[in-house]
Amino acid sequence: MKEGSRRQRVVVVGAGMVGVSAALWLQESGHDVTLIDRGAPGRGTSYGNAGIFATYACIPINAPRRLVDAPSMLFDPASPLSIQWSYLPRFLPWALRFLAACRPGRVRATVAALATILARAEEGFLPLARRAGIEPLLGPAGALYVYESEESWRRDRGNRERRRAHGVAMQELDPSEVYELEPALAHVVHRGIHMEDVFYLRNPHAVVDGLAQAFVQWGGRLLQAEVKSIGNGLPGLLEVVCSGRRIAADRVVVASGAWSTRLLGRLGEHIPLDTERGYHVVFPDAASLLSRPVAPIDGGFFMTPMEGGLRAAGTVEFAGLDAPPRPARIEALTAAARRLLPDLGDPAESWLGFRPTLPDSLPAIGPLPSDPRILCAFGHQHLGMTLGGITGKLIAELVDGTAPPSVDLAPFRPDRFA
Ligand SMILES: Cc1cc2nc3c(=O)[nH]c(=O)nc-3n(C[C@H](O)[C@H](O)[C@H](O)COP(=O)(O)OP(=O)(O)OC[C@H]3O[C@@H](n4cnc5c(N)ncnc54)[C@H](O)[C@@H]3O)c2cc1C
Repeated sequence: MKEGSRRQRVVVVGAGMVGVSAALWLQESGHDVTLIDRGAPGRGTSYGNAGIFATYACIPINAPRRLVDAPSMLFDPASPLSIQWSYLPRFLPWALRFLAACRPGRVRATVAALATILARAEEGFLPLARRAGIEPLLGPAGALYVYESEESWRRDRGNRERRRAHGVAMQELDPSEVYELEPALAHVVHRGIHMEDVFYLRNPHAVVDGLAQAFVQWGGRLLQAEVKSIGNGLPGLLEVVCSGRRIAADRVVVASGAWSTRLLGRLGEHIPLDTERGYHVVFPDAASLLSRPVAPIDGGFFMTPMEGGLRAAGTVEFAGLDAPPRPARIEALTAAARRLLPDLGDPAESWLGFRPTLPDSLPAIGPLPSDPRILCAFGHQHLGMTLGGITGKLIAELVDGTAPPSVDLAPFRPDRFA
């Protein structure tokens, strides 16, 4: 145990990248940890993402230009950003908060907060990866953005400058330099930027599963059960009610991704979490076409060479947690990937995942004001694979309580929308 810290019984709800990382850091700190998921570890949104350890990604999807672009993009089913009409009434309150967070001053604050926590991302993940022996699943090859026109290069200039101002290293490339790196790309490239220092996860599910196995191997309890509610138990203790059992805890960490507020809503907490649904398609015979993840800057998706094939993953759809996958979105993603890599062959697998997103694109990390024994660790939007590790480390620091957390958590306060 850390000096001055007391061993606590901690229940972590959700075994995605965030919950598994929190469980491991809490275990490392000497706490008695139970990790609960209704399914197998890493089968939620942490399963099918693009796998980029995107330490450069401090630009949120909130942007002043969304105020102009969003209305026309949203209703086009083939656009990288879309909404299902039937979801509109439930989406509107979130959308208004989202648009408020697109104002230049708010965006500047978001970029600064994201850059601060992203700068600590490797320190939260790599020690866990090393200890769990999953380093062979990391692909150290950089990430490449391609632009298809001067207009799109010019439009993204502000974002490149903001990234640079926050210390992101990137190299600007002309088309011949892009084709030298990735010769299979179709000849539609106008410019590129290469972030050489970035690595990626060659199998995101195997990464989370490997971390979960390490947690169990070092004595952690992993339970498969649906958590129904969190409330007061024996004097001074919380009680986690699962299908079939009740578990007493000093602290509970809610790391249930896009489903987190379904649990907190029962406590009367209203944190405006919605989901940005994203899709993937896998082309099983095409992984060798690329040697690093590549993204068309205006396409809203990455193509990542992974174990099992080349995965095109991304785009954003607002339709909530319950609507079925929309085939038109999968077809549009397949067609967009084929435009850049004509030799992809046929896709063998498609997937729909649920990014947990708060209107200002920052996660909620910290205690619930109404009951500080309950800690929030959700809302990591497009960056949960990157930020899961450092979020877990910060959660362990909060539970230890021996010193202030090593990142200023004010921008991530769960009650900032109250
Ligand atoms: C298409 C796409 C591409 C992406 N690409 C990237 C990328 O390149 N890089 C990156 O960093 N991020 C990326 N992301 C985002 C990233 O995948 C998510 O932010 C991250 O997976 C969220 O992790 P999590 O642990 O919060 O949630 P999840 O992985 O969804 O885990 C939550 C877990 O909670 C469990 N759960 C929920 N409710 C309960 C309950 N009541 N009882 C028990 N268990 C419960 C679920 O079963 C689930 O396993 C992408 C996302 C998508 C959709």
